[in-house]
Amino acid sequence: MRLGGESCLEAVRRINSRGGYAPHLSISFDSHIFSIDTSRAPKAALQPDAYLITHAHSDHYGKSAMLSSRAVASVETARALEIRYDREYQGRTFQVGQSILVDEVLVDTHPTGHTIGSSAFSWQTDSGERVLVTGDVKDYRHLPKSDFLVMEANYGDPYDPSCIFEDDIAAFSEALDEGASFGAYAFGKAQRAVALMRAMGYKDEIGMDDKSLELTSELLGQAAGPLAALNGAAINVVTPWNLNLVRSRAKYFLTGRRDTNYPTIQLSDHLDFRGLMRMIEHVSPERVLVYHPQGARAGLLAHHLQECGLDTTSLDCIDRFLR
Ligand SMILES: [Zn+2]
Repeated sequence: MRLGGESCLEAVRRINSRGGYAPHLSISFDSHIFSIDTSRAPKAALQPDAYLITHAHSDHYGKSAMLSSRAVASVETARALEIRYDREYQGRTFQVGQSILVDEVLVDTHPTGHTIGSSAFSWQTDSGERVLVTGDVKDYRHLPKSDFLVMEANYGDPYDPSCIFEDDIAAFSEALDEGASFGAYAFGKAQRAVALMRAMGYKDEIGMDDKSLELTSELLGQAAGPLAALNGAAINVVTPWNLNLVRSRAKYFLTGRRDTNYPTIQLSDHLDFRGLMRMIEHVSPERVLVYHPQGARAGLLAHHLQECGLDTTSLDCIDRFLR
């Protein structure tokens, strides 16, 4: 798709060696190509000028892109990728909030509150169009006004009631008071849970399984407070499939999912549908491209925004390709 009349700003997808689509997209503008949350192109293929990695969740493909010298990720994202995948990050890093030169383009970075180190990227084209790529977002307040918004839709289905939610901080606090343990994914949710417990004044050791412990102590640093091995403390924060190993009587899975055997407490790393709408209002774009997640939600949100009169498309409508 070609975006705007005079503009040479264009969203493109790469066809991989098996004839399918490489994940997500690249943005071609002026003489540059920035790839977003995608895997590395094979050596014979056209190489982008940068692989922007918004955060270290597996569905954003940093595991592959981290091996390119053209990878661009925050210090925390790079470190989280190294811990998660046990391989060395080969790209360049930045502190979230810094502005950096990427292929001679000044790129601003913005916290999104989704995970430790999660970052949105923004820049201007030669003709002055402001581009913003969000990654996954929990807090949109630091995002700048932009003309072209490339956004997520994890909870963007306007017709699904489960896309409307609020974090149940009161239930989390009560569970903490009763000495419960919590199931939380090792990267993202576990650090959110520990940070929240410390903010609620909990000062004792928190037990964690190995990966959660390593990620939390490295990424939260001092703010993590004292941590211990699994069952080495009264209260544990462990990956959900290790909850059965925890000796606490009360156990909760910190999730919005309904398909679990454990009682759940709603604590999300994401904006809900209403939050996504407020984010769009805040950014006030001329055009929107919904690029994540895979599945129907990107298209459903794009359709909804079109009906609201906003020039919107989704990943599956991109008809320009790189090989
Ligand atoms: Zn994510």
